[in-house]
Amino acid sequence: MEQIYTIPVNEAFDKSIADPKCGCPFCTIFNKLEANEVEMITGASMMEPSVRIETNEKGFCKKHFSMMTNCENKLSLALILESHLDLLKDKLKGNFLNSVMGTKGSNALKKAGAVSESCYICDRIELYFPKMIETAVLLWETSGDFKDKLRKQPYFCLPHYTRILSFAKDKLDRRKFNDFYDDISSVENAYLAKIKDDVSWFCKKFDYRYESEPWYDSKDAIYRAIKFLSGSDE
Ligand SMILES: [Zn+2]
Ligand SMILES: [Zn+2]
Repeated sequence: MEQIYTIPVNEAFDKSIADPKCGCPFCTIFNKLEANEVEMITGASMMEPSVRIETNEKGFCKKHFSMMTNCENKLSLALILESHLDLLKDKLKGNFLNSVMGTKGSNALKKAGAVSESCYICDRIELYFPKMIETAVLLWETSGDFKDKLRKQPYFCLPHYTRILSFAKDKLDRRKFNDFYDDISSVENAYLAKIKDDVSWFCKKFDYRYESEPWYDSKDAIYRAIKFLSGSDE
């Protein structure tokens, strides 16, 4: 287990215990990795030739372009865009018409269109995020303290819950996986039952018979249910 990953994993798990509103600890980890990458690409990394070759080729997804436009350094973004567009310009001229008209025309269009789907930042996050998942599973396996932390989490968003289960299923032997599943699924199922009840109560509040009843925890139930279902990193 690599030490550099245990720190952010422990920090995120501690944070969600201290304040359950932080929600899924893996969303916290993801958001931190993402913010870091956005900061780097609009800062120091931008001028590195090897990075620029990659950003020219891949570009960025809509979400990450949007995060980059919120950064102070607009010149960085403009320089990245300038060379990215330059490369695209080259790709779309010359033989492009022939490729489109040729027998592999749909392939050529697919390839050109794929630029708007590939993303330098998504790929960078994906370099580190699986290590965080792995570290959490290994910490659970080796540390009683972390086992306890996992059981005290408010919930795991559905995308991260299924992702960690899929990793643990391959990594742990059957008996250990059963124990892991017991620990994590009791957190998950308890939250799922709670959020479902909160949404149901929210619905009931629209019935005049419940008008004078209190809202309990249901005022923000829609928002929390969506956060649970899709994660806060989407
Ligand atoms: Zn999550
Ligand atoms: Zn992206």
